[in-house]
Amino acid sequence: MSDISQLEDNTGYMQEFSPLTEGEQELAAKITDILNRTIRVLCTSCRHCMEECPIQVNIPNYFGLLNLYAVTGKKTNMYYQRYSMNHARASECLKCGRCERIYPQHIVIRQFLDEFAALYEG
Ligand code: SF4
Repeated sequence: MSDISQLEDNTGYMQEFSPLTEGEQELAAKITDILNRTIRVLCTSCRHCMEECPIQVNIPNYFGLLNLYAVTGKKTNMYYQRYSMNHARASECLKCGRCERIYPQHIVIRQFLDEFAALYEG
């Protein structure tokens, strides 16, 4: 926000704020539960894993596509082409394991990259 009118515009919706009803909260909890059970990789896109990758595999974006496929059953090849344009493709992973050593959440990155490569490059 760079001026007062933008600030007023962005905060204006709070003037009529009302909390979610009990029914809306239950619905939100159900949707959250379904998504958590459906998502394949619990990646938060922090991108720490890429800091040590010698060939810059675009791990978070590939995992995002893997999750999208898990939820919708649809592949988006156009996004894979875009995400891999300036990065190594999933199948080019050297299996060096550097990403897994630096990554704090203990995701088996190499295994999921194999799964992703089979889906998108197989
Ligand atoms: S295992 Fe693959 S993705 Fe991980 S750092 Fe090595 S080359 Fe990059």
